[in-house]
Amino acid sequence: MALIVQKYGGSSVADGEKIKSVARRIAKIKDEGNEVVVVVSAMGDTTDELINLAHQVSEQPSDRELDLLLSTGEVVSSTLLAMALDSLGYKAVSLSGAQAGIETDSKYSRARILRVDPKRIANELGKGNIVIVAGFQGMTQDMDITTLGRGGSDTTAVALAAALKAEICQIYTDVEGVYTADPRLVPQARKLDKIGYEEMLELASYGAKVIHPRAVELGELYDVPILVASSFNDSPGTIICKEASMEIRNKVSGIVHDTNVAKVTVIGVPDRPGIAAAIFEPLANADISVDTIVQNASIENIADLTFTVARSDLSRAMAIVEPIARDIEAKRCVADSKLTKVSIVGTGMMNMPGYAAKMFRTLYAQGINIQLITTSEIRITCIISEDRVKDAVQALHRAFELEKE
Ligand code: ADP
Ligand code: ASP
Ligand code: MG
Repeated sequence: MALIVQKYGGSSVADGEKIKSVARRIAKIKDEGNEVVVVVSAMGDTTDELINLAHQVSEQPSDRELDLLLSTGEVVSSTLLAMALDSLGYKAVSLSGAQAGIETDSKYSRARILRVDPKRIANELGKGNIVIVAGFQGMTQDMDITTLGRGGSDTTAVALAAALKAEICQIYTDVEGVYTADPRLVPQARKLDKIGYEEMLELASYGAKVIHPRAVELGELYDVPILVASSFNDSPGTIICKEASMEIRNKVSGIVHDTNVAKVTVIGVPDRPGIAAAIFEPLANADISVDTIVQNASIENIADLTFTVARSDLSRAMAIVEPIARDIEAKRCVADSKLTKVSIVGTGMMNMPGYAAKMFRTLYAQGINIQLITTSEIRITCIISEDRVKDAVQALHRAFELEKE
């Protein structure tokens, strides 16, 4: 008998019929003699709809109220799934994140899990129940409800799998696994059978939304194998585990894109010590993560400073940077939110020359202008105009021959 944690995403539980079909899948796993803990996302687009509702009644909804509101989406799907299992004749109990023992810090809308106390879940499993946990949420020490960031149900699932020492964490979604590019953008994209945590973390952090980056991080930290597979069929999926192929060199594993990007440029910054700290410290204090930073060489002690933030953080970032720009006597501050990051990722690129040049040439051949470039050991990212993303991803997929094994 194994303990299995499964997670079903929003599209897999989008309506009553789909919830019943997920219930049948879970029943089958239970019948095979396993203990099952299931994490669910909110039904379909519920989270977006709840955010819309909040903005209908308030220009700036309070963080605390918004998190409590959003957490209800996952409570609805978890209770319905428990009812569907019950009507199939299976003992099931639904738990909110708080009831499931998930304790987080108090950063609303992007809370981090501090610890998981699995006692209640273990107790319910001991009674023979299938345990359904509402994903994406937890509770602070002060008993306020928090959410873990968009896509955070994956992180709930892996955190529970780690705490319960489950054999595997299975993430069921609307595609058959992790592909060499978003299959919606690149029909020729190929499903990967296996991928290492390190590469998957880079893919997820740079836009492959099929799994939440923090879920991959936790999987690696606690050594939880993660399966990503379809909730609509039984095809084998992709296993994320310890480095799958250490010796495969000279290869790009995937192309990812992320449209949640905005660029801020502070023009005419006086070039003197302390300026970068004056700009970036307040952003860090506001918990705004800054990705790419480029400062050009100064001419007559005046430089331009450009950096990127998530598009969703742009208005907060501008509200912080504009007054600072005035204080330090910079000329002005401009923002551009119609950008996309396109990245090539692969451990095979480590210490191998030629990948960057090939990427730049491919984009050039498409007439695509590269605005900013960043790299890690296993990734090269170009920031380009949003309207060219499809051309860029498809051309790079062809250039690096990712449709081939
Ligand atoms: P869920 O609701 O199940 O959490 P998501 O919408 O969050 O599902 O993630 C699944 C989606 O991720 C797919 O429909 C697919 O379009 C997208 N996606 C982006 N990049 C990739 C990739 N490299 N491999 C697979 N899917 C990807
Ligand atoms: N329902 C949340 C979202 O839409 C969490 C999740 O689906 O993982 O982001
Ligand atoms: Mg998701």
